[in-house]
Amino acid sequence: MTILIKKGILTDGVSEMGAAKDILIEDGYIAEKGAEISQSADYTIDADGCLVLPGLIDFHTHVFEGGSDFGFNPDLVLSTGVTALVDMGTSGSGNFEAFHRAVSARTMETAAFLNISAMGQMGTGLNENLDPCLVNEGRIEELFQENPDFLLGIKVRISKAIAGKWGTEPLKKALEMGERLEKPVCVHVTDPCVDMDEVAAMLRKGDILCHMYHGKGSTILKEGRVSQAVWEARRRGVIFDAANGRTNFDFSVAEPAIKEGFVPHIISTDMTKATVNQGSLVRNLPYIMSKYLSLGMGLPEIVKAASYTPAVCMGRADRLGSLEIGKEGSITIVKRKSGDFIFSDAAGNKRHGGEMLIPLMTIRRGLVLFDNNELDRE
Ligand SMILES: [Zn+2]
Repeated sequence: MTILIKKGILTDGVSEMGAAKDILIEDGYIAEKGAEISQSADYTIDADGCLVLPGLIDFHTHVFEGGSDFGFNPDLVLSTGVTALVDMGTSGSGNFEAFHRAVSARTMETAAFLNISAMGQMGTGLNENLDPCLVNEGRIEELFQENPDFLLGIKVRISKAIAGKWGTEPLKKALEMGERLEKPVCVHVTDPCVDMDEVAAMLRKGDILCHMYHGKGSTILKEGRVSQAVWEARRRGVIFDAANGRTNFDFSVAEPAIKEGFVPHIISTDMTKATVNQGSLVRNLPYIMSKYLSLGMGLPEIVKAASYTPAVCMGRADRLGSLEIGKEGSITIVKRKSGDFIFSDAAGNKRHGGEMLIPLMTIRRGLVLFDNNELDRE
């Protein structure tokens, strides 16, 4: 099976920065790129003027459908250009097997962080018990041994309302286990139980600070500027993920930070059952990416944060996240549409954007999984 995509604007933020080229997918892999490929193919797609991106990777979602109030069917977002995603700690050691079975039955490529709490994240108002005595270390170690490629790291939430009297103890436990398992820790920091500087100082190279632009309680800003401790964490190799969500993004934090150059390494949605394809807060990954266009980030940088960098953090950059020859033939074709578009944040602020990324076609491993019928295909 061969697919030839003609005249698209190739952009991955790594090897392609926006030149118009043809690209050929053969037997599920990217086989050739060039100014003009004349070879005939099973399908020829005319992508003139459209963006040809690597399949998008949403690094922070909740897809334990049926096992958590947050969980949605991950195949719902294939039509938004997402071809792989990460479940960020919806399951813990107590319900991981049910979660793994549920996502394995889906088309979407999935990997996961395991919650430090055995119960995982059950849904709004059902916060995980973070008593360190209840962390089943033996079972967690076993699960990481049994699922070396699927389980990427440990998730922990240290919001005041969740960590409660345990404070940073659960984070310390997660970091200690991360050290032992040689895996990263992803920490949720909205309204953190201690100053953000203290959290940032605890994280190691490769650990992930998610909800970097949240605006509740202590934030990454001190007197309107990104704090020294947060910058220091970034220099040390800590990964900053926007992980938007309904309650984890505030323009009054994002705007000054981005102006200073404190852009996200990863742009993800933190999508749940309540937000998948809904509203002006989350909706879908191309919608969130469009918001960063309006915040002044360049397209290649945005695409890199929504495909290549997540692929690296998944340990799958040998196969996913770029348009290099030999990589998996997972491609998202998108149109840049001009207009007046509204984006909202958790504090009720609204901003207008002038461009929206519209998903036209999703190809995964050489197979067209979504087509809005706009592009000519022979
Ligand atoms: Zn989340």
